Amino acid sequence: MNEHVEQLQNQLDAVDQQLLVLLYERVRIAGAIGQLMESLGLPKYDPSQEKQKIDGLAKRNPGPVDHAALEQLFKAIFALSQDRQQAGGQRKLLVSRQTKSEDTIIRVKDAIIGGSAHVLIAGPCSVESLEQMRAVAAAMKSVGAGILRGGAFKPRTSPYDFQGLGLEGLKMLKEVADEFDMVTISEIMTPSQMEAAAQYIDIIQIGARNMQNFDLLKAAGQTNMPVLLKRGIAATLDEFVLAAEYIMSEGNEQVMLIERGIRTYEKWTRNTLDISAVPLLKQETHLPVLVDVSHSTGRKDILLPCAKAALAAGADGVMVETHPDPQAALSDAAQQINIDQFYAFWSGLYGSGLYRGKM
Ligand code: PEP
Ligand code: MN
Repeated sequence: MNEHVEQLQNQLDAVDQQLLVLLYERVRIAGAIGQLMESLGLPKYDPSQEKQKIDGLAKRNPGPVDHAALEQLFKAIFALSQDRQQAGGQRKLLVSRQTKSEDTIIRVKDAIIGGSAHVLIAGPCSVESLEQMRAVAAAMKSVGAGILRGGAFKPRTSPYDFQGLGLEGLKMLKEVADEFDMVTISEIMTPSQMEAAAQYIDIIQIGARNMQNFDLLKAAGQTNMPVLLKRGIAATLDEFVLAAEYIMSEGNEQVMLIERGIRTYEKWTRNTLDISAVPLLKQETHLPVLVDVSHSTGRKDILLPCAKAALAAGADGVMVETHPDPQAALSDAAQQINIDQFYAFWSGLYGSGLYRGKM
């Protein structure tokens, strides 16, 4: 290359370098202004000020850069700084990976959620009897699945449907879990149930319908129990993580998230399993992320591929509703699998090589 051209190109590179340093400096100062304005309670963005700045620069423009191009360029630079200015005062969320880069691992008795192994949570939609719970627990135990679920306080769409056995149900759940040395999980619907529930359950479930029950979230945050938070029926991921933030902001760090399908126009499934939520939540938060394949699909025939998809997408485990006699179940009869189907589900998952469970 011509020596002179090369020289000029080097000068150009040096100018670019200086522009970069200046740009970085501008963005940094904008961030500091954002923080200061936030602390003073003042608005951070004033569009009229931006217009004044551009007009002022245009007046001082000696050429040869044309006015419109200059305006466009500075608008882009201002937008960059503005992003930073907004972020400057933004509170870092406790759930965020930016706050804590390593994965949160939740240990409950022998169960480890969010660690290197996957978990398989199973059990009926509702606790109905000791025999029912024993049948499921025995099957689970034989494949090394140690987290037994069963609803006792049921959020039903109709007030005339079975509402759950309440505390009686929780006692049954605990009795069977103790017999099989398992961990229990059950939904709590009001803050007043929290204290009694703590005697019987190891993990509090907050259901989809209660994802934005802020008093309940705060009450769960004030316990030292692990909480499984279900995504709301129509909740965005922002709303989901902020609901988890409510729990964490009260001092409880043991929160796990579970995608359970969202309501869309699709009717072939009960809800739409948002599989993209899994890698997004893993990326943006440090919390364990699970997938409930039963409530998200509402059907038995596609549980296995959906569970495989969940694990392939990075989920820490799956939840599947299992009942010894689904047809006779008092809630969610259509979507629960029986014991044989549970074994088939487990072996399909295990055989896929995707499931890193205990067995
Ligand atoms: C459940 O897990 O039994 C349940 C009611 O789920 P969701 O809150 O996701 O509907
Ligand atoms: Mn159910």
